[in-house]
Amino acid sequence: MNQVLSESKKIATGLYEVAHWIGGRVERGSSARFADIYNPALGMPQGRLILGTETDLDNAVSSAAAAFPSWAQTPPLTRARVLFRFLELAQVRRVELAECLVREHGKTLPDALGEVARGIEMIEFATGIPQLLKGEFTDQIARGLDAWSMRQPLGVVAGITPFNFPAMVPMWMYPLALACGNTFVLKPSERDPSASLLMAQWLKESGLPDGVFNVVQGDKSVVDAILVHPQIQAVSFVGSTNVAEYIYRTGTAHGKRVQALGGAKNHMVVMPDADLDQAADALVGAAYGSAGERCMAISVAVAVGDVGDKLAAALAPKVAALKINEGHQEGAEMGPIITAQAKERIESLIGKGVAQGARAVVDGRNCRVAGFENGFFVGGTLLDHVRPDMIVYREEIFGPVLCLVRVPDLASAVQLINSHEYGNGVAMYTRDGGVAREFVRNIQVGMVGVNVPLPVPMAFNSFGGWKRSLFGDHHAYGPEAVRFYTRHKAVMQRWPDSVSKGPEFAFPQMG
Ligand code: NAD
Repeated sequence: MNQVLSESKKIATGLYEVAHWIGGRVERGSSARFADIYNPALGMPQGRLILGTETDLDNAVSSAAAAFPSWAQTPPLTRARVLFRFLELAQVRRVELAECLVREHGKTLPDALGEVARGIEMIEFATGIPQLLKGEFTDQIARGLDAWSMRQPLGVVAGITPFNFPAMVPMWMYPLALACGNTFVLKPSERDPSASLLMAQWLKESGLPDGVFNVVQGDKSVVDAILVHPQIQAVSFVGSTNVAEYIYRTGTAHGKRVQALGGAKNHMVVMPDADLDQAADALVGAAYGSAGERCMAISVAVAVGDVGDKLAAALAPKVAALKINEGHQEGAEMGPIITAQAKERIESLIGKGVAQGARAVVDGRNCRVAGFENGFFVGGTLLDHVRPDMIVYREEIFGPVLCLVRVPDLASAVQLINSHEYGNGVAMYTRDGGVAREFVRNIQVGMVGVNVPLPVPMAFNSFGGWKRSLFGDHHAYGPEAVRFYTRHKAVMQRWPDSVSKGPEFAFPQMG
């Protein structure tokens, strides 16, 4: 167990305790409210989380506000050097962070290492901040007059993150926010909060001044305090759609800049000319990896023309053979679901799908894993003959359930996908370049893969969905995040010894 986590007071029951990080150290705050932190594979609490209060949030914001002027004045290159040291620590200690994710989220260790690797890419991108913050300069817009633009930090910014990527999604936010000169308050998911403290401790070890990065643990009450806090300038949110919409509306109503990424229902179109074996493998990885608890997971296969039966036949044995186990076990391909309630909800949705006429080709309900009988496991599930009016098609299930929908042609596939309320990711499997090109151009979705099942952009491109998958004007990370976390300033400069024409009363005409 890491020093910060073990330093946290051991509580009578032997569970560990996770607290806040304010002003460069662990703080217990003033709350008397707690939440259990489960090990989802064991189905048992292993720790308890202090649920912060409005006062705890206010203390964190005060600490961040006090640290802001000096951090904002720190040259970008010096800020980048702190991030270089953080990058090195994160690389060396990546297994420790991944272990934390396996323990509290339940994903397999290789998947957790993948999450950490994708997070580390965000730090790598942020170390390029001196280049990324460069403005534009125009010499001599009029005689003796030059103009340029610059980008300046906003102040205190906040991040509110979901359970499914407890390391990577916060890393979508804070490395670049800090690199741009802001100070940060993170409100992690209450399900798997320990990763936030590890990252806070590593930032401090890397030389980040106290107060620049803070963590307040908690639930809706801390979120609500963030949304109305007058000193918080911007909020980045990632989570489910209804909460994302609420965050966007409330945050913007209180004058904040908000980007709120929501849920998804990602389709993969399989054309008649596709290599079916390749498409089936891609679908299995993309639908069931991380137990389907990824916002980019494929949850609908769209079989075009006569592909349906062949695709179902190719998928069924692969889905039935999925190795479901605790995340450290050799060969485990899929771990448990995050909570007992989420497992119950997923199983109930499968039941509703079947009741509405879907065929459960593989049914993952009542999944038991030897040695982990109390774990929140749901087996891989394949529902065939799903129709757009069914609840399993309309709702984000966020579990290991793949729906197979059949359509006669590509135009119907495009219409189906464009009619869905979500527009996060989409993929197409085909050998026809012209068809793929038309698909890319016409589909109403933010991230598109051609023969790539999970088109998650790298750190130097930006990430975001369309429609009800994202509220706000900016996508996450990459160049879009530099714009989100800074304000544009336009400057014009003339020196008094250049030409003076006396007072001018007409609107100036340059040149
Ligand atoms: P969630 O919406 O339940 O929680 C996200 C955050 O919001 C947490 O920090 C939580 O404490 C807080 N929260 C929850 N309910 C709230 C409420 N009523 N008011 C204020 N705050 C509240 O999401 P989750 O279950 O942790 O994560 C899964 C969801 O996140 C899925 O819908 C998934 O698609 C989505 N997600 C989206 C992306 C993306 O990039 N679009 C990425 C990852 C996850």
